[in-house]
Amino acid sequence: MTRPILFLNPAFKQMIWGGSRLKAEFGYEIPGDKTGECWAVSAHPNGDCVIKEGIYEGKTLSQLWKEEPGLFGNSDLDRFPLLIKIIDAKDDLSIQVHPDDDYAKEHENGSLGKTECWYILDCPKGASLVVGHNAGSKEELEEMIHQSKWSELIREVPVKKGDFIQIDPGTVHAIKGGLMILETQQNSDITYRVYDYDRLTDGKKRQLHVEQSIDVITVPAPSAADSVRSALDLPENTLNELITCDYYKVWKLEVTESVSFEQTHPFMVMSVIEGEGMINGQEIKKGDHFILPHGFGTVDMQGKITVIASSVQ
Ligand code: ZN
Repeated sequence: MTRPILFLNPAFKQMIWGGSRLKAEFGYEIPGDKTGECWAVSAHPNGDCVIKEGIYEGKTLSQLWKEEPGLFGNSDLDRFPLLIKIIDAKDDLSIQVHPDDDYAKEHENGSLGKTECWYILDCPKGASLVVGHNAGSKEELEEMIHQSKWSELIREVPVKKGDFIQIDPGTVHAIKGGLMILETQQNSDITYRVYDYDRLTDGKKRQLHVEQSIDVITVPAPSAADSVRSALDLPENTLNELITCDYYKVWKLEVTESVSFEQTHPFMVMSVIEGEGMINGQEIKKGDHFILPHGFGTVDMQGKITVIASSVQ
């Protein structure tokens, strides 16, 4: 028996820094012109994706994870482990940091921590991201934060389209206005906001989490050069591994003719970020997100398609 490809309907999030490129460039029906996030593959209660078609149509991904564990390789994890987003940052996101699993478990009701990574879909010339900081010790970090020495503290690194960046827990980071990013992360929504540019939403500032941030920020920060790599000109028609960490594996696949491979992972998530083509007889195009279940067998793809794929170990 062949298992079906699980196509998903995304969930959308309005954000003060969001825009309308998720409609203009990906064709999604977005809820408004400040749509910052498309939760494309998610079983998180804050945005649980619904299966689009086929025998599981209408079920949420979290439901399917519980009812049909065989689709995901009978994992012993208690929830679907990944969350894939497309982010449209019209304006700067807050400067933030995420806890690791241990800290989140203790301080955030048993939630998971958050390790995430970014593939830059598009950005203006001369774009940059905030990755890391310049404090040499915890004391210096606290002083710089409490005295609002943001320009001294924050480390900006230049980036371009096709760059790939891993953000480990404890890394101060921020996406800057003008960037579109595909994010692969742990299934968690725990963010500590260090600084929000003193912006107001409905006359109020968003909540900051200064003490938690100081607790979890890694000091000193690892070098910026270690965190950014180009993933633009990789070999075509093969799965190129971008990262393997404790929580996920991420690949980039650029199909220009045809490609055939075995799906040997517990499941494989795919997000089409460019082009159109076919997968095992079904049409796919930019903006489609789907899961190849466990035991899917041979994957056959044709056309001109760029995909970011992920799985767990
Ligand atoms: Zn983050």
